Amino acid sequence: MLDQSHIRNFCIIAHIDHGKSTLADRLLELTGTVDKRNMKAQILDSMDLEREKGITIKLTPARMMYKFTPKTPPDLPLVRGGEYVLNLIDTPGHVDFTYEVSRSLAAVEGAILLVDATQGVQAQTIGNLYLAMEENLEIIPVLNKIDLPAADVEARAAEMMQLIGCKREEILCVSGKTGEGVMNLLDAIVTRIPPPAGDPDARTRALIFDSFYDDYRGVMAYVRVVDGALMKRQKVSMIATHYQLELLEVGAVTPNGLVASDALECGQIGYVVTGLKEISGCRVGDTITSSTSSTSSTLPPLPGYKEVKPMVYAGVFPQEGDDFHKLREAMERLKLNDSALQYEPEHSPAIGYGFRCGLLGMLHLEILKERLEREFDLTLVVTVPSVGYEVLLRSGETQAIKSPLELPDPSHIEHIKEPWVKLDLVSPSAYIGSIMSLMQERRGLYQTTEYLSGDRAILHYEIPLSMVIVDFYDKLKSVTAGYASMNYEVIGYRVADVVRMDMYVAEEAVDAFATLVYRDEAEKTGRRMATILKDAIPKENFVIKIQAAVGGKIVASERISAMRKDVTAGLYGGDVTRKRKLLEKQKKGKAKMAALGKGRVSIPTEAYLKVLKRE
Ligand code: GDP
Ligand code: MG
Repeated sequence: MLDQSHIRNFCIIAHIDHGKSTLADRLLELTGTVDKRNMKAQILDSMDLEREKGITIKLTPARMMYKFTPKTPPDLPLVRGGEYVLNLIDTPGHVDFTYEVSRSLAAVEGAILLVDATQGVQAQTIGNLYLAMEENLEIIPVLNKIDLPAADVEARAAEMMQLIGCKREEILCVSGKTGEGVMNLLDAIVTRIPPPAGDPDARTRALIFDSFYDDYRGVMAYVRVVDGALMKRQKVSMIATHYQLELLEVGAVTPNGLVASDALECGQIGYVVTGLKEISGCRVGDTITSSTSSTSSTLPPLPGYKEVKPMVYAGVFPQEGDDFHKLREAMERLKLNDSALQYEPEHSPAIGYGFRCGLLGMLHLEILKERLEREFDLTLVVTVPSVGYEVLLRSGETQAIKSPLELPDPSHIEHIKEPWVKLDLVSPSAYIGSIMSLMQERRGLYQTTEYLSGDRAILHYEIPLSMVIVDFYDKLKSVTAGYASMNYEVIGYRVADVVRMDMYVAEEAVDAFATLVYRDEAEKTGRRMATILKDAIPKENFVIKIQAAVGGKIVASERISAMRKDVTAGLYGGDVTRKRKLLEKQKKGKAKMAALGKGRVSIPTEAYLKVLKRE
């Protein structure tokens, strides 16, 4: 039986590109977990997409064995030399997956806080640090990439000391690339991170920190055993979802594959095969417990379980209408593996049949699109994303709104709420002014400024999520010459003065162009949309009015003047065949258009895309 005092569970947290995956590679290599000749860069990023984009999307645990030799004079008297099990969880660093990050942090006792010594502390460094501090993790501050000439170790160390309140000598300096300093880091993992402290004799409780669907085995989960142990063939139940099942297999996750064993002991991290067919029965954050009797409901679950709610909605359509069924199958498959993904069928007059998808954020949307296109060979049109609103009705009911068309009549609405986020921006001080004006434009509420060093600052804001999801990041980068980084976290819903705006073309409302806008921005948005439509809709023989309206009141309008010449105008009234031919020719040109205004005005697909499509 494995003694808990010889287990160390940890993760690496860092801003994107600061070298997390590369450092993980060195840890695996220097502990002999992966042979140097089998080593490929970023070995834990197993999805193609992850490897290409260089980002970690799914977290991956990896078990290593490390022979620790206490240095003389004896380090800490508590830590004996010998063989240690090191369980690393490689977490995604992006805000969309914060819940996954926080669950994997809940599964470990320590975190390596990795900072690129050429870049310094960035917004996601701070976001992840806060999450780690909330879980009371032991933090090992590490500066990475010290092999690079641009590394400014002392200046960056000063920033870290300021941020964490640590001493200079606590900060380790490494290069994930050359391996320099990594052996010291392994020793620090053993000596500084506390061992697990669960009760091996108590009733089993294990935290699910990831779950996914495997084609051959059904739903599998990565778990941290907190109390007791998990055995193969054990009957267990899920505390939140109440599912009962028998564990088909348990074992360790290593970069060389899954290694089955008879048990996952107290304090261990590993996998279980549940035999479930649906991931919804095995959710991240839930607790697995041994189910022997009716007492299972009385055992308190491990803290922190929450249902993950989509925050952002967008339409996803196949470019070729024929591909709708293929898209449906693809969505069903992806959903098996992504419990946060929600979708329902949607129809657009111009783009055709597709799905309205609910997602955690913009990266989640991007990943969904790329996976659908890549793994299922589809070409897609994705519409401009919007946030989900909560509407409190006069009747006292609350309704979630995924699309503008779902908004009830204003006379039934008590108020509408929208999601807000806490946004942290890290930037050289020189750009604070530009950032502040951008934030003002975007309805951000300033909170505080902290200084990391003389010339780098952290700005704290609160801002509606809707203001962050469309072209915010690009704007931020452009006003700060690329230097600012950002991180946000949803803090809740707040009342918003939001109204539905309809676009009328030739006096007829076009549902596809309906949007929810802030009342005080309706005119501006209306004018912008009217201008886009004016340029995108071809002229007719008559004047076409384009109007934006809120609650029946016109807030902006444009007109497309009539075509000067009728194609058939110069023909003899009697020459019917020629006239018909000409008209047919004209009709052909409009084959891809959707008719509107009793067939009088045609809106080309192009025009729809100009308004709806996400660039
Ligand atoms: P992650 O996004 O935190 O997982 O970062 P990666 O491990 O993917 O590294 C980002 C980039 O930095 C890659 O191009 C790595 O090759 C490079 N990199 C990582 N660690 C080091 C290092 O110690 N030295 C140097 N020179 N480059 C590094
Ligand atoms: Mg990575």
